[in-house]
Amino acid sequence: MAERLKNYIDGAWLDAGAAEAVDVLNPATSVVLAEAPLSPATAVDAAARAGVPAYREWRRRPAGDRIQPLFKLKALMEENLDSLARTITNECGKTYGESVGEMRRAIENVEVACGIPALMQGVNNEDIAPGIDEHMIRQPLGVVAAITPFNFPGMIPFWFLPYAVATGNSFLLKPSERVPMTSAKLFELIEAAGFPQGVVQLVHGGRDTVNAILDHPEIKAVSFVGSTATARYIYSRASANGKRAQCQGGAKNPVVVMPDADMEMTARILADSAFGCAGQRCLAASVAIPVGGARKELTERMAGIASARKVGYGLDGGVEMGPVISAASKSRIEEWIAKGAREGASVLVDGRGKQVSGCEDGFFVFPTVLDNVPPGGEVARTEIFGPVLSLMHAATIEEAIGMVNDRGYGNMACIFTSDGASARRFRYEVNAGNVGINVGVAAPMAHFPFSGWGESFFGDLHAQAHHGVEFYTQTKVVVERWPRDWSRKF
Ligand code: NAD
Repeated sequence: MAERLKNYIDGAWLDAGAAEAVDVLNPATSVVLAEAPLSPATAVDAAARAGVPAYREWRRRPAGDRIQPLFKLKALMEENLDSLARTITNECGKTYGESVGEMRRAIENVEVACGIPALMQGVNNEDIAPGIDEHMIRQPLGVVAAITPFNFPGMIPFWFLPYAVATGNSFLLKPSERVPMTSAKLFELIEAAGFPQGVVQLVHGGRDTVNAILDHPEIKAVSFVGSTATARYIYSRASANGKRAQCQGGAKNPVVVMPDADMEMTARILADSAFGCAGQRCLAASVAIPVGGARKELTERMAGIASARKVGYGLDGGVEMGPVISAASKSRIEEWIAKGAREGASVLVDGRGKQVSGCEDGFFVFPTVLDNVPPGGEVARTEIFGPVLSLMHAATIEEAIGMVNDRGYGNMACIFTSDGASARRFRYEVNAGNVGINVGVAAPMAHFPFSGWGESFFGDLHAQAHHGVEFYTQTKVVVERWPRDWSRKF
């Protein structure tokens, strides 16, 4: 029988006390790798309670001391990169190279958070009135929590964890129950890095576990990444309970291709964006909009690249794309391809019904290209979250920007062009928080906030960098007078 994973609470690995568990499958083979316990509210309560005294002691340590375990964690993550990447590939399906890239992004966030002594500095003015000074200082919130999705099990917890603990909070992670093994491995490293008991905790689980987090009075802030429906729900329940919340949701990312773009480079980068991680990236290109004369060549190139992409088990050499996460995802994606055809699109490259030799039980959907997707239809507007690229056509850049802005999501929009004026106009006018110019996955580095807009984000402060620092701290303003101040003599 597969191992049932444990929670990490108050510095100890504990049985979750869960009545139910979810099988964690390797999506390339359907082999059961582990069981994720669906932790009850009592486990969340134990972690939240342990987090309170831990935070009270931790926040008193100088920032320069608090970052020491993060330096150690960075070194441990580097040393264990290979086994972490293999774990990600096995439970999540992406290729080994993609898993290594993901862990690099996680490590970058640890590096940035090591700058907390400077990043969380306050501001002050001397003599706001004669002999009176005013300071704004930043203080941590207490116990904070993050709830994360399946598609980046190594990276996304690190959009939050390093900033939360470096600023002096205690932190609780509830990872996706579909990919909990990466977190389990990372928490072994967190334990070895030497954080004090209760400062960083792990509670596995699903919907009820999340509700216990959202309702717990000791949890002061919630960070979430996942689908828009869940993001909206978590934002409203957390806020109604008086918590800070930052909730990143789904996406439908358009890419405009101008006739003056370098077509060979554009098609190659666009394919990596649309089919990388089997299209299960919140920054995956899902709609390409060639403008005017770009249409014929881009369409032919995308069809050629999609048909040639090597699909298989992500640890096998030469594999460029792995499976999608589950049998349910595979059927849902295949149904969207069928719906595209029903809405009038032509299926130029059809990824349905294909098998990978030696992985016959895997959840594979091969790269798919839909042409002439009607802009007003459901396929053009709905997140498919699989390796499906929809082509829509525009005569002018105005029309293309209109198509980009005609959707609720605002995670990413990209343009490929060799003309600076077109690029500037696009950057200026599109409704998206992450913009790529001749770039297919405009993922902000750890020292920039991950800036989704619209239905891709609920909240105001985003993940990463100085937004993370602001989210995990509250400001305190001190106005100070010392009546016998000697400096007034001068
Ligand atoms: P999901 O919303 O199904 O699950 C995310 C987390 O929420 C998991 O931990 C899950 O246990 C929990 N959850 C799910 N349903 C819940 C419910 N009803 N009540 C309470 N908790 C619930 O998302 P997913 O399928 O794991 O991830 C894919 C989605 O995440 C896609 O929509 C993708 O675009 C999005 N995503 C967004 C970003 C971003 O930065 N905007 C990044 C990565 C992924």
